[in-house]
Amino acid sequence: MSSLVRHCFTTRRSGVSAPPRDTFNLALHVDDDEQAVLENRKHLATALGFDPLAITAAEQVHGKEVAVVKAEDAGCGAVRFSECILGVDALITNAVGPVLALFYADCVPVFIVDPVNRAIGLAHAGWKGTALGISAEIIQAMQREYGTDPSKCLAAIGPGIGRCCYDVSHDVAERVLTASGDQRVIAKASQTTWRLDLKLANWFILRSTGIPESSIAMSDECTSCNSMDFFSYRRDGQTGRMAAILALR
Ligand SMILES: [Zn+2]
Repeated sequence: MSSLVRHCFTTRRSGVSAPPRDTFNLALHVDDDEQAVLENRKHLATALGFDPLAITAAEQVHGKEVAVVKAEDAGCGAVRFSECILGVDALITNAVGPVLALFYADCVPVFIVDPVNRAIGLAHAGWKGTALGISAEIIQAMQREYGTDPSKCLAAIGPGIGRCCYDVSHDVAERVLTASGDQRVIAKASQTTWRLDLKLANWFILRSTGIPESSIAMSDECTSCNSMDFFSYRRDGQTGRMAAILALR
């Protein structure tokens, strides 16, 4: 797919942000020094070969709304958080130019590529977005906008908090279980807590849209376990954000 898209999920290494967002924080909304974030973004853009001013970001409100990104939207949120696309947690586009960028510290990044219609989608799925079915919403939006056939899509679920570190209430477990439709996404941990596998929940939701199992890649990295490589909101509270990047060439 490298001829069709540029894509990556970053680690926390090799940036210039100071503790507790050390060092490769890429998000403008977590009270970091703005110049440090822009420097980090420039570094990433150089490494991947895109214009940092083409970064196109979303507000990320833990909802299920999807924005259709046009060529002229390229750069929304590249320099100022207030200029990002408001009210959404997922971005889709068939334009060459916008570099879709969402930011994470435990939530799950979901990448979609439709190689037939040359369209892409990127979602931010925490437990709320997962329970709201954002991974299905993004496929439906691509079907509507671009005529995407899920059976032809490639999907990837990136690093996020693993079931090893994610205890949730019964209510949260039930809601994600209902959305994913498979008992294997939760396990009872104690009288009052459940272990939740957010990545697996999104895997089941993607599969239910018609994407073949063999076309869905899933990371086994837990952002909470691996403090060398990843920021984790659950583990650290005040911290930085990794970026998922997806752009058409
Ligand atoms: Zn873990």
